[in-house]
This record gives sequence, structure tokens and C-alpha cells, in this order.
Amino acid sequence: MNFDITVVGSCNTDFISYVPRMPSLGETIVGDKFEVGFGGKGANQCVMSSKLGAKVGMVAKVGDDVFGSQTIDNFKSHQVDTRFVYIAEGVSSGVAPICVTPGGENTIVIIPGANNFLTTLEVDRAIEMINVSKVLLCQLEIPPAVTLHALKLARDRKVITILNTAPAIPLFNEFYIYTDILCMNESECKALCGIMPDSTDERSKAIIHFIRLGVACVILTLGESGVVYGEKEDPKRIVSIPALVVKAVDTAGAGDAFVGALAYFLACKQELPLEDKIMRSTHIASLSVTRSGTQKSYQSKHELSSELF
Ligand code: ADP
Repeated sequence: MNFDITVVGSCNTDFISYVPRMPSLGETIVGDKFEVGFGGKGANQCVMSSKLGAKVGMVAKVGDDVFGSQTIDNFKSHQVDTRFVYIAEGVSSGVAPICVTPGGENTIVIIPGANNFLTTLEVDRAIEMINVSKVLLCQLEIPPAVTLHALKLARDRKVITILNTAPAIPLFNEFYIYTDILCMNESECKALCGIMPDSTDERSKAIIHFIRLGVACVILTLGESGVVYGEKEDPKRIVSIPALVVKAVDTAGAGDAFVGALAYFLACKQELPLEDKIMRSTHIASLSVTRSGTQKSYQSKHELSSELF
């Protein structure tokens, strides 16, 4: 059996409070609405790819609680292979309380729980799936050594590696050597290389910085300003792709929508030029902010224009 994408990453359950405004420190306010949603950057990206039609497998760990079993059921309902979603005994699943304002701004607290207990041996057990995947997709919500291990395994097998450096944590340069496509947002860029990509010059400097560290393609996502990217073949050529102009309802999970869509296009639409793959992913991420929630805000293939496929 072949796979398009293996995701090695996190699963969380989101507890989403819709609030009229962000409370100040020490302040209690009354919110408007509460919802529980499936989240975690790994799970979000996995579900986005799957909703677009990719055959995806997840390597992750959940707790032995109701949130863990619901997370596995949710993957199954999206046709994601869960053979390598492990259950940690006596540990809580990852959870994320989120506040969202009417303007679409959000704050998020993450309790990693079982995500912190995924091991390199458990990634090794999934080698049969990685071996037959076209893309390996990682983020930084599981132990960094496990992410690096997965990147190395995939590189050894000539599987395309994508690293989404979210959330930004200090990384050894080795991570970049094993990454084909590096994707980060503005604050992650600032945290990882000290450059805030808020002008053409700064964006170019940041992209060249990561290319020098060994990455083949660097993509910076810029919220409503879209994305910029550069490639090692011609690091000075920075390509800018605008976002769609949309009414933002909830931007939580927009970066994950972008990365999940990109993995889909890399694995399933290999014939397209990279610029096209990134443009279509930007388009799909923009549409995701027009609906509330994270995974549930992601459009499925049948809801999207056929021109995107
Ligand atoms: P993150 O969620 O990781 O902070 P970004 O905010 O950079 O990531 O958003 C990722 C992508 O989602 C953007 O490149 C863009 O395509 C889309 N996006 C995010 N916010 C908006 C917005 N307000 N309007 C249109 N597109 C958006």
C-alpha cells in the first residue's frame, strides 16, 4: 500500500471560547460561546491534506482518556491511517484552551500531555509507512529529537521532508540539513533567526539565512499578506504570493491549512511548478479563515473550485 504523506506530530483537543474581547491579565470576562474541536498542528495538517484527497498516515501519541479515543476516531472519520497513533498509559492527551475574538484574533495555551511521550522507537515502528510515502511532514509540538529522527529517516529514503517550525523553539542547525522545505510564520522567523520579515529586504535576508543552513526551499507565511518563498537554486529570487482578500472570521489554524495543503500538492500534484503549488496552498489557507474553528474550518476537495486541482 502506498501513502502520499506521513505526518509525525501532535494531536490536541481544542477548547475554544468565543469572547467579545481578550481579557486583561487578572480580569474575568463573560464569553459568548464554547466549542470543543480537534487540533494540534500535526493533526490539523494531517486532516487538511486528507480533506484535499491525499492518502495520509499519522504518527502521534494520545493519552488514555476520552480525548485520546475521540482524536483517533476523528482521524478515522477523515480516512487517516491510525496504526501508529499510540496511547500513553496514565498521561493526559494534549489539550489547548483557545480564545477567539469577533475580529478573528486568538490566544492559545497548549498543554502537550501525551505529545511529549512520543519516542524515536515509535517512529521507527512506522518505517513501513514512511518508506512508501512521498512526503514526510513535521512540526515542533513533539520532542525535538523525535522530529529530527523522523526527518533523518525520511531523507535516507528520499522522501520529501517538510518542517513547519511551529511553535518556534531553539533548533540545532542539523534540523535544517534534513529539511527540504521549511515553512514558518513571521514570529517564528524572528524567533529562529532574529529577523522580522516585515520588508522585502528582511524577508530576503531570512530566506537566504535558512538556505545557507541547508534548506532547499524556505517559505514565510505572512498572514493576510500571503507568503514569500525562495529556493537554493537562486536564493536572491524571492517570490511573493498574495493571500485572497477575505473576511477573516477565525485565523486559528491558517498556518496548518497552508502546510497541509502544500504537503498535498507536493505529494499528489508533482507535475505542477512549485510556485503553483504554493499559490494554491495560499488560496486554500485564505479560505480557511472565513470559517470558525481549526480542522472544521478547512474546506474539503468537493467544496473547492476544481481549478485548484
Ligand atoms: P499562522 O497561522 O501560522 O500564524 P499565517 O497567519 O501566516 O500563519 O497564515 C497562513 C496563511 O493563511 C497565509 O499565508 C494566508 O494564505 C492565510 N491567511 C491567514 N490570515 C489571513 C487573512 N486575514 N486573510 C487572508 N488569508 C489569510
